[in-house]
Amino acid sequence: MKIEIDLKESTYPRIIAEMKRRFADKTAVIDHGTKLSYFELCEQSERLGAYFLEKGIRPKDKVILHLGNTHLFIKCLFALELIGAVPVIVFSSCRELEISSIAGTTEAAAYISFRSFKGQDRTESVLSIRKKYPTIRTLLFDDEIVSAHISGYALDNADRADPSPDDIAYIVLSGGSTGVPKLIPKKQSATLWSAEKCAESCGLNETTRYLTAMPCSHYFHICGPGFMGTFIRGGTDIMCFSSLPSEIIELIQQERITETALVPSVASECIAYAEKHCDDLSEVFRSLRLVQLGGSMCTADIINAVAAKMHCIPQQIYGMGEGLVYATYPDFPLDMILKYQGINTSEYDSVKVVDTDGNEVPTGEFGELIAKGPNIATEYYRNDEANRTKFTKDGYYRTGDRVRLVDGKYLQVVGRIDDMINRGGEKIFPAELEMHIRKCTNVRDAAVFGIPDTQMGNLITAFVIPEDETSAAEIRKELLASGLASFKIPDAIFFRSEFPLTSVKKIDKNALKKEAAELIKQTAEEMICTFDGISDPVMKKAAICWAQTLRTTEIKADSNFIELGGNSISAAEMLQKLNVTFGTDLNMEDLYTAADLSALSEIIKERLSDDK
Ligand code: AMP
Repeated sequence: MKIEIDLKESTYPRIIAEMKRRFADKTAVIDHGTKLSYFELCEQSERLGAYFLEKGIRPKDKVILHLGNTHLFIKCLFALELIGAVPVIVFSSCRELEISSIAGTTEAAAYISFRSFKGQDRTESVLSIRKKYPTIRTLLFDDEIVSAHISGYALDNADRADPSPDDIAYIVLSGGSTGVPKLIPKKQSATLWSAEKCAESCGLNETTRYLTAMPCSHYFHICGPGFMGTFIRGGTDIMCFSSLPSEIIELIQQERITETALVPSVASECIAYAEKHCDDLSEVFRSLRLVQLGGSMCTADIINAVAAKMHCIPQQIYGMGEGLVYATYPDFPLDMILKYQGINTSEYDSVKVVDTDGNEVPTGEFGELIAKGPNIATEYYRNDEANRTKFTKDGYYRTGDRVRLVDGKYLQVVGRIDDMINRGGEKIFPAELEMHIRKCTNVRDAAVFGIPDTQMGNLITAFVIPEDETSAAEIRKELLASGLASFKIPDAIFFRSEFPLTSVKKIDKNALKKEAAELIKQTAEEMICTFDGISDPVMKKAAICWAQTLRTTEIKADSNFIELGGNSISAAEMLQKLNVTFGTDLNMEDLYTAADLSALSEIIKERLSDDK
């Protein structure tokens, strides 16, 4: 009963027409008070297409689509496809800066925007973007579209687009976390085929009630399988507006959701919310068959919790706006779901794991994953710089992810290559350290990254969400006791009650990095003020070097470096700091000869006077 997707044939206008005919009376979408059958959804999209034409939108026009999770998003997307315009789908959280850049790059001819977002009226901001970019001929707000009497419109056959399967269906944003996102052109048939492959990996069918819980402006939630994968299988898509655990849990129960996709942080929040507010979790999640977990690294704890507490199959799904998708399948045993991000969902992709010189590594070894295939981007839209760096000469997309393929097939991701911390030449991968920190007593979650440091190259910084009382010293002690190499022990550990999230609900490490840099600066300043008992200027400067290395302000003239928690690694780091500060050439022996800070200061003074 499903719609067959052909990599060489399928296009949105053809699939929309088939959905309307094949599943006519079935419910396609539920969006709070609104319920639309396939016939109604497709018919209203056609009328909306005619309305857009009247408003001046033309075939091939780039149209910025800036809407939240409502059925209007789907209708606008379909309407633009039906008239051959090209939606440029932007995240609902994008602001003037991003939209301006996107409008400039795409020379957008139209802009469809919500009037207000999270209680903020966007009229002024949208009007000012339009003023800056005169290519924007048509500006439409969601409330205008909703109140337009589109039932009076009809799409003439002559106005119906018939694109080629290789034409661009729409442009999506890359999930890049720095600066303005890159634009990814997505082809007609390839995106539909990806939706089909993902629908297959989840086992969607006509009984599916799929919850679009996360922002549908993210490609994953359109086609991974998202609402498109649900539609081609004849299921029902239910829209969650806020992505908040309260709304997700309510919809799961009320709408008897069978499948959904969550980023790990939201899955974990949903479970915590349900445990706090509901009596019987098996009842809450009774209808769930499978939860997709993707978008960022998922811990074993979350996968296990989804299996045990949401009473369903957890699916690891690894993918990116650029197109490649790996997933575990419902028949995988739990230990494989815990171990792997899955297998390639597309038989036509060519993937390689390469070293820094671009040479393939032996099977099973770690390297960067690169990929090429019908659904994988071959370029970014009008972005020469990114096209030079993110694609190989023979057209492979560089994922930037450090992975290995066990048995040449099963994907294991360790993290982003760029996230690797180089601390004095030692390489540390945040995901590995995060896993160890999460195992420490009273730790709920951890986010690790490097902070630039003039002496060490990078300092290992960890933000920790505690479950109960713990301290930086406790965590360090436990990590060392667990046998973790001492160079991997975080230099700085900060605590937070929750992590900031990006628009697509991944942990916003850039925000954390800024916060950490500020905290480290503050700590250094605090340290300068707090050594009141130390008046000697040389001793005070030396105390700051100790304090920065050991992350403690409890330093006195008679403190001993080792007794304060120093070890051979931190001693080397501290000596380097002292030598940079004083221009000396102190070595380990000097440190061990000096019983305390005061004695060490005397050695420094001697060296300084020797140099004169
Ligand atoms: P985006 O383009 O926002 O979808 O981001 C894609 C990136 O998210 C990938 O290149 C990975 O770095 C990361 N990612 C996506 N899914 C997973 C997953 N299941 N496990 C680990 N990382 C993931």
